[in-house]
Amino acid sequence: MLEQYGVSRESLREGLRLLEVQGLISIRRGPGGGPVVGTVDPSNLGRISTLYFHLAGATYSELFEAWVLAECVLVDRAARNPDRAARAAAMAPYLDGDGAHEEEELEKFVREHGGFHIAIASLARNRVLELAMQTMGRIVAHHVAVTDDPRVMHGLIADDHLKLARAILAGHANQARSLMEDHIQGIAKYSRERFGARMDDFIEWR
Ligand SMILES: [Zn+2]
Repeated sequence: MLEQYGVSRESLREGLRLLEVQGLISIRRGPGGGPVVGTVDPSNLGRISTLYFHLAGATYSELFEAWVLAECVLVDRAARNPDRAARAAAMAPYLDGDGAHEEEELEKFVREHGGFHIAIASLARNRVLELAMQTMGRIVAHHVAVTDDPRVMHGLIADDHLKLARAILAGHANQARSLMEDHIQGIAKYSRERFGARMDDFIEWR
């Protein structure tokens, strides 16, 4: 890289460090190590956004409000995706109505719940929206949900996801949008009760 870019060792090191801080690469130390290109993860964009949200004085209450809108935009576009086969493939894992069981491990449950929303975003046919609109949910998951046991909401979420998956598959955008609004509002309501007065706190930078 020193040869390719014609820069000093110091500049290269600083450049790599900047990319590492942004979550775009990871650097393995030691022999055989080096920079490894990471994936484009909305969580990293979300993490950086929290610095701006914090400095702007944005509150968790505002974050939840934005999250509802973002998920509604994504699901509306997903249901309007003209490629029915793509809609069917993305929704297939969520159409059996079985979902995760209560006794399943917390980590698996969280992963599966997140996976459903990632699948919806992937149907939105716009990479800017796909990436930007997912950041709010990722910040919520990182700041709020992980401090609780989301299995409490399990029954509600599994049922919501099944209905949403059916609406997306059928291409019913208005119905999907309204279901999504109820779904995210339901989670937000639960979190608000748990979070109490902290809903008016500034979003933390982390
Ligand atoms: Zn969900």
